[in-house]
Amino acid sequence: MDNCIFCKIIKGEIPSAKVYEDDLCYAFKDINPQAPVHVLVVPKKHAANVLELSDEDKMLLGHIQLVIGRLAEELGVSKTGFRVMTNCGKDACQSVAHLHYHLLGGVQMTEKMV
Ligand code: AMP
Repeated sequence: MDNCIFCKIIKGEIPSAKVYEDDLCYAFKDINPQAPVHVLVVPKKHAANVLELSDEDKMLLGHIQLVIGRLAEELGVSKTGFRVMTNCGKDACQSVAHLHYHLLGGVQMTEKMV
């Protein structure tokens, strides 16, 4: 998508601190980290959020889950724990309209999620 910042990052038109890439997804450090480990995992295919997904994306989503698990191991948070979240829409404060999963870890989080 032409004016999507994450599409531009995936294409290399905007710099990013890449931590992983394959045919289907791209992962990079969040520019404004909220935890010692804060990585964004995004599908290369543009979708604004989970509401724009369909049955044909099942394989892609499963793949992303597996990548997140592997990245958690590589980034050293698989044993201590980590949180995976995706914001969708206004009440969740989604600020970038390209589906992305936050991988957060390296700190003791609270039980509260909102
Ligand atoms: P969300 O609020 O769930 O839409 O998350 C968007 C995330 O993208 C925020 O945590 C931002 O800090 C992050 N972000 C925005 N622009 C960039 C960028 N150019 N490089 C890395 N992360 C970014």
